[in-house]
Amino acid sequence: MIIYGWRASHIKSEANNRIICPSCGETGTIVNSVFGRYVHIFWIPVIPIGKTGGAQCTHCQKTFSKKEMNDDMKRAYKTMKGDTRIPFWHFSGIFVIGLIIGLVSFSNNAEAKAEKEYIEAPLAGDVYEYENGPSRYSTIKVLEVSEDSIYFLQNNYDFTSKSGIEEIDVDSCYADDIYMMSRSELLDLYTEGTIFDINRK
Ligand SMILES: [Zn+2]
Repeated sequence: MIIYGWRASHIKSEANNRIICPSCGETGTIVNSVFGRYVHIFWIPVIPIGKTGGAQCTHCQKTFSKKEMNDDMKRAYKTMKGDTRIPFWHFSGIFVIGLIIGLVSFSNNAEAKAEKEYIEAPLAGDVYEYENGPSRYSTIKVLEVSEDSIYFLQNNYDFTSKSGIEEIDVDSCYADDIYMMSRSELLDLYTEGTIFDINRK
């Protein structure tokens, strides 16, 4: 479940020394406040969605929404709102998302690099997940490696999806016959994408 929505946080309050409070008649008691609204995901601000605010008289405590302000108050509020910058942290989520994307692509790259090393230097026990036809996926298991070939066991079973294929990677699923292919054939299968994943324990 993703929890999201919008929130507002106080950015700035400022007293105006010229304005007369329409409620109590005091001068210089009106304080304008500006809030920044932002979209949050799990309470982390992601994108600012504008500013809002109002005013309050520090003498009679009356609060004024934008609609309740007279022209003088509106002008002062507007000026202050225009001068108020949205704080940097209201964009935090964008940086968090960027960081996550960075980490994911880093780990994907690291995984691809490891796989390339595995396929170029196969070891007994390596399991290759490969495409065995349309919507048919299976595994082979390396039994032995020589200078230019690998000897492997074939899985008796197919799986209809790439994910969950580990289920058939158990000893009892493999046939007894031993097959052989050259390292360059193996490399070709990987390069053309027939072998799509390599598991080394
Ligand atoms: Zn007042």
